[in-house]
Parts: sequence; C-alpha cells; structure tokens
Amino acid sequence: MEFNQLIRDIQDFPKEGILFKDITPLLGSPKALVAAADRLAAVSPEGISIDKVIGIEARGFILGSMIAERLEAGFVPVRKKGKLPFTTKQRQYGLEYGTDVLEIHTDAIQPGDHVLVHDDVLATGGTAKAVCELVEELGGIVVQCNFIMELTFLDGGSKLKAPIQSLLQY
Ligand code: IMP
Repeated sequence: MEFNQLIRDIQDFPKEGILFKDITPLLGSPKALVAAADRLAAVSPEGISIDKVIGIEARGFILGSMIAERLEAGFVPVRKKGKLPFTTKQRQYGLEYGTDVLEIHTDAIQPGDHVLVHDDVLATGGTAKAVCELVEELGGIVVQCNFIMELTFLDGGSKLKAPIQSLLQY
C-alpha cells in the first residue's frame, strides 16, 4: 500500500512557513484506511496484550479507535484543556510558540495497564511525551507510541522512551 501517495502537502498551513502534512486523502481511501489500522495494530512484542489505546485530540481519535477495536482494548481520549467532563490530570507541553495543556481522566488508566499511544503525526515529540508522562503518572505502562507519520528530521523520537512505530517517515 502506497500510503505516501495519499498524504497531501499544504504550504503555509496553519501559519505561513509551515508545510502541513494532510492525512485526509488517506482517511478517505477505503483500502488505505483499513490497511493503516491493520498495520498500526500490529504491536510488538507479538502477543502482548494492550488494555487501552490513547488517541490524542483530534486526528489521533480516528485511527486510535480503529486500533483499539482491532486489539480489543478500551479507547481513551486525551484532550485539550477544558474538554473532558470528569476529574482530570493535566500536563503542560511546549508548542512551536508558547505552551498548551493536555488532559486525561484520572480513572482512564489503571495501575499496570498496558497502553498504546496513537497520534497522526510525530513532529517535535512534545505532545506525545506529555501524553506518555500522563499515562505513567496514572501507573500505566506505555508499550508503544505509534503514528501515521513521523517527521524524522525533527527528532521527536528521541523524547520518547517507548518503542515507536510509524507508517511513513519524512
Ligand atoms: P509535536 O508535539 O511537535 O510532535 O506535534 C505533534 C502534534 O502536532 C500532533 O498532534 C499532530 O497532529 C500535530 N502536527 C504537527 N505537524 C503536523 C502536520 O504536518 N500534519 C498534521 N498534524 C501535525
């Protein structure tokens, strides 16, 4: 499956100077969508059971929930500040300019849970690192972080302790 032909480059989005990788053509292809979820649900070591899949708002929700279904795991949303209704744990993380806050429900992960963290794109790694730290604070074990795409020149992987899997590397 040629996933890379289904990623569209958008120049100057969301701001001037940024080359945005748009995954919507991949999501819109029935064959690519299923193949992407199948590939990202192939967790190693083989046979390890995953209790929870985390999807990071908002594009991480899409394949995250498909991966959870394949692994027969629960799905946990990590959201931007103020969106989750129950008690939350929060983490501030760095953006290109300034900071933002991510939240998880305090009862979303049980101590000892095996967790897979999914997002669409790994760029600087700040987002995924904050999510892994939230999981660990709740006593979970991050077994894998996976992404549709990894922007390897930004070296976000060096911020993450867990093994990384991605369908595409740029
Ligand atoms: P990081 O924290 O720098 O690794 O940024 C990752 C976050 O920014 C993810 O939640 C992505 O959804 C988003 N992101 C960064 N660059 C892109 C892109 O080119 N396309 C889509 N999402 C992106």
